[in-house]
Amino acid sequence: MTLDLARKIRLIMKLRKSGITDTAVLAAIERVPREAFIPPMFHDQAYEDTALPIGCGQTISQPLVVASMTQELQVNDRHKVLEIGTGSGYQAAILAKLCRRVYSIERHKPLLEMAEKRLSSLRISNITCKAADGMKGWTEQAPFDRIIVTAAASEEPPEALLDQMSLGGIMIIPMGRDKSSQFIYRIMRHEDGFSCEQRMPVRFVPLLPNMAKGEPDPVQDDLAEPLVFAPPFAFQS
Ligand code: SAH
Repeated sequence: MTLDLARKIRLIMKLRKSGITDTAVLAAIERVPREAFIPPMFHDQAYEDTALPIGCGQTISQPLVVASMTQELQVNDRHKVLEIGTGSGYQAAILAKLCRRVYSIERHKPLLEMAEKRLSSLRISNITCKAADGMKGWTEQAPFDRIIVTAAASEEPPEALLDQMSLGGIMIIPMGRDKSSQFIYRIMRHEDGFSCEQRMPVRFVPLLPNMAKGEPDPVQDDLAEPLVFAPPFAFQS
């Protein structure tokens, strides 16, 4: 057994213990090589349960957070999914294994270009990306069955994203004014409006308006510190 495979198996076991029971989500995590989405200097940590820097002051999320948000999204192979915050492309690659098509938006063009290269070298072809402000959503492709936001909104979900959810749709979004009070929220669209449930505590980089102008966002030192949580915080499916 290779070292990477042993580490991957250990990670999958940890995810299961932390409440990831959806076997399709676990299989997607097993099939997508996380090392392909991170800079070479961090390859030995690819299967640690930790966030890692990917450039432009951004991070690839901790595997448990990716798995939990994906499980909570309840994706199936008929769904059209919108992701805000392509970053490394890893979350998009996981979603691509589970749904019909992923649309993903990133405000840092260099990150988006790297992500697109990785996805095409892994021959993942059901993802369409664009460099834009994801807070405006993707009008031409709306409505979406599922929306996942992988950067934290301060108080409320962007209005355009709520508008672009289909009826019966689910949005998973981290929200909170500062990193010590951020939580994942699960928003559902019903015939008579929206409902919202608070889920687990998280620490995400902020959701920022407009395209980035080339400068990296301020470095978030504490984001590499793994969050530790177990049931009852873990999601029930
Ligand atoms: N899903 C990513 C993690 C991304 S970190 C992965 O799997 O690697 C959050 C990302 O959201 C960052 O790359 C950041 O640039 C991006 N982001 C923040 N605000 C945004 C916005 N308004 N539109 C698009 N992307 C945004």
